[in-house]
Amino acid sequence: MTTTATISSNCPECDAPVSFDRPPLNGQIAHCPDCSAELEVTSREPLTLELAPEVEEDWGE
Ligand SMILES: [Zn+2]
Repeated sequence: MTTTATISSNCPECDAPVSFDRPPLNGQIAHCPDCSAELEVTSREPLTLELAPEVEEDWGE
């Protein structure tokens, strides 16, 4: 049995798998590849993601 070091958890918004190249830090912000939700790592063991608080951010379109 081969264990790949893929670290992933599911997006709390759309349930899509969100994977990390390296172990994320507590409080690290990640983005869902599916719905682009901003996610915060709230736990590392097990890896838990929660929606990050909405921040007014202007992407300057
Ligand atoms: Zn999502």
